[in-house]
Amino acid sequence: MELPVPVEKLPYRKSPEKQAELISNAAYDILELKIENFTESVPGETTSSLTERPGELPVVRTMVHYIAADGSSHGMERTDRGRGSERFEAGKHRLIKLNLYHLLRQEFGFPEAPWGILHGVRPTKIVHRLLNDGLGRDEVVERLRTDYAASWEKATVITDMAIRQRPFLAKSDRQTVSIYVGIPFCLTRCLYCSFPAHILPGKKGIERFMAAFRKDLLAARDLVQAYGFKVQSVYVGGGTPTSLPDDYFSEMLQLVKESFCCEHTVEFTVEAGRPDSMSEVKLAAMQQCGVTRVSCNPQTMQQRTLKRIGRNHTVESVSEMFHSLRRAGIPEINMDLIIGLPGEGVEDVRDTMEQITALAPDDITLHSLALKRGSRLKMNLADYELPEDDTCREMFAVAMDYVTKSGLKPYYLYRQGYMSGQMENVGCSRDGAESMYNIQIMEEQQTILGIGGAATTKVVDFRENRLKSVFNAKDLVTYERDIDVYIEKRRALLEEIYGKPQPEI
Ligand code: SF4
Repeated sequence: MELPVPVEKLPYRKSPEKQAELISNAAYDILELKIENFTESVPGETTSSLTERPGELPVVRTMVHYIAADGSSHGMERTDRGRGSERFEAGKHRLIKLNLYHLLRQEFGFPEAPWGILHGVRPTKIVHRLLNDGLGRDEVVERLRTDYAASWEKATVITDMAIRQRPFLAKSDRQTVSIYVGIPFCLTRCLYCSFPAHILPGKKGIERFMAAFRKDLLAARDLVQAYGFKVQSVYVGGGTPTSLPDDYFSEMLQLVKESFCCEHTVEFTVEAGRPDSMSEVKLAAMQQCGVTRVSCNPQTMQQRTLKRIGRNHTVESVSEMFHSLRRAGIPEINMDLIIGLPGEGVEDVRDTMEQITALAPDDITLHSLALKRGSRLKMNLADYELPEDDTCREMFAVAMDYVTKSGLKPYYLYRQGYMSGQMENVGCSRDGAESMYNIQIMEEQQTILGIGGAATTKVVDFRENRLKSVFNAKDLVTYERDIDVYIEKRRALLEEIYGKPQPEI
């Protein structure tokens, strides 16, 4: 491994957080580049040797040789071994990353990265595995510290979070599933969005989508009936499902309710994202269909930011929407916010949190802005002033402080690529208002059937403790044209994992 510039000239030299991020990402990137195992080390390369015996945990010795800018040659090595019930392959990857992380940190004197080598989207899944191995809370925290180099703070947060999730996960078995319904339309495209949502088309375009969607939904309903699945939660997301015109929205919601809601269903969620997509008719449809949870996602309560990110609604309309949902008796209301939006500072976040917590939603999800490929923001980055990473961290801490002081506690968390400052997305709720669907989708211990544009079906293989997925097309034309193909893929995946449905006697 040859550094492109001398260490003392690295742009990260002055910021300990940046250094930590660099070293954590370097361990990850090197692993991506060199996943093979080598028996000989060569100057300028990173090599790992592996002891492999059937049924045993891996032992990995990692050697790094590099040539410094002054021409001197350096070598270092570290050996570590697999632990507990981790799979051989997973253990091998973890150990290479861990070895590299420690070696690079020691060699260049970089500080600890908050998440260590926990690069994955769902770090709580590791906590569940350790809890399933019979470890207690403190032992799990310790293992996250030693095996993943996570900071005490992050290790504690995700361990307590996973413990909070356990009773919810225990309510699901092999026959329990959830339903995801994807309505891939929005009224305008947000600046930071890379999701394959389409601007709402005219009547003909909506009709074409609805024809494929009805077919998709009825085929999924038939599968649920044939396998005798118990539908635990139903989630209508997108896009913004409420961007559909009133009559289509009401029809879609009624169809979803009739097809899937049953005595086992504990949660029926609709993402109503933006106030400019709501109407009295849609609110009445939600009431009639027994929707239990609505997401109202302003992202910020700063008017100038709303305009900047491409939202054609006011701050006041967010509050009006929230109050109308409360008046309609929707049991749980969630609000999503993004930290790190262009042009925002700590005082903007403080003001937003004052306004949001005054409304007292049941659930607040704090997102860290991610610069996603395909978003207008990423493509035109030079046109926007983004807060520094240190400011983002301060803003996140301020927002978290408001959330916890208003009595909400973290219950799910996920991390994304392109997220600055080693941050995360955290969902917090009052006790009893945890979203079952959010927990299930994050922990991947339950089969989820996906219907609609860009929807994913995830089927849990309980024998091998693995997840297999099939995807509906993100592109609308393909989804509508090949709907029979997607229906067949979903059916075939279920048959592969669950076998053929038993005929009723
Ligand atoms: S509302 Fe959501 S899906 Fe639609 S454009 Fe904005 S971020 Fe993307």
